[in-house]
Amino acid sequence: MNIINIIRPEIASLAAYHVPDASGFLKLDAMENPYVLPVSLQQELATHLAQVALNRYPIPSYSTLKASIAEKLGVPAGHDIVLGNGSDELISMISVACAKPGAKVLAPVPGFVMYAMSARLAGLEFIGVDLTSDLKLDKQAMLDAIALHRPAITYLAYPNNPTGTLYEADDIVDILGAVGDSGVVVVDEAYQPFAQASFMSRLAEFDHLIVMRTVSKLGLAGIRLGYMAGNNALMTEFEKVRPPYNINVLTQAAAEFVLLHVEVLDAQAADLIVQRAALANAMSELPGVIVYPSSANFLLIRVANAEHVFAKLLEQKILVKNVGKMHNLLENCLRITVSTQAENALFLAALAASLSST
Ligand SMILES: *Cc1c(COP(=O)(O)O)cnc(C)c1O
Repeated sequence: MNIINIIRPEIASLAAYHVPDASGFLKLDAMENPYVLPVSLQQELATHLAQVALNRYPIPSYSTLKASIAEKLGVPAGHDIVLGNGSDELISMISVACAKPGAKVLAPVPGFVMYAMSARLAGLEFIGVDLTSDLKLDKQAMLDAIALHRPAITYLAYPNNPTGTLYEADDIVDILGAVGDSGVVVVDEAYQPFAQASFMSRLAEFDHLIVMRTVSKLGLAGIRLGYMAGNNALMTEFEKVRPPYNINVLTQAAAEFVLLHVEVLDAQAADLIVQRAALANAMSELPGVIVYPSSANFLLIRVANAEHVFAKLLEQKILVKNVGKMHNLLENCLRITVSTQAENALFLAALAASLSST
């Protein structure tokens, strides 16, 4: 067997998505919610899950789950929902559905890596448009690139990962206008619980707008559930790409149950917003640390020597994300998940010690 005779060259040249082993570490690298469900709810959930018919396939319309998402998470009436095994799978479905020969995908960079990855896997060309030096959206560069490339898919993470930036709503509207009827604009609201801003209520204004969300950052990363909503004709096409049983019965049952108690997760998110402000303040008082404004459950900081600080944090059993190599605009940047007050305090002490050791 000869790999290069068989595997597409753009796949063979990729490295597999690497997730570091975090056992024994304070895990501040993946934007997980540090809180779990209250014990009483955990027990009720267990009872609920025990009744699930594991011998049966899921019912692929998922109508109860979709109705519950629409009601509890604010999808406006008249807009169909498509479910994904995490929003990663939704991104992949959109890519596959739009992968006409020569079609292009456009997104600001640095941004969420799966947009480029998924485009590549589907054989689409990815165009990254640099953010400004202060990590804001370069609207003019976006409009120019859209005019030049006529992208089939434009992704806007709202707020953006890994910068935490919440783009101006007016800029997004201008981008929607520039894309016009030659493509879709996906507003990825993975961090919506921490942003208090959304395009969901504006779906009716734009028939090429897709609002994509996930329950991962809200506190259910382990169940793998994402959803997108948009124009019904568009959603009908994406449904054709979706694997019919992509949401397993346990995920379905767990999500339906937790959504009945969504105020618990909302309260956790509200607390993390408070912790985010406290952590941002505390870090900005450390010498040589620049903290970028964030509307997500993480903070991006720039330090003098991120490699060193990252290594020192690892020695202290703390895992953050070193994004310094991701893009030249992120040189010496680290991304830190906002956690509980106690974990943030541990991290802060470790960060201070890392900065002062040279
Ligand atoms: C984390 C993240 C997602 C992925 O969410 P899953 O539902 O866990 O696959 C999507 N978009 C952005 C911008 C993210 O940061």
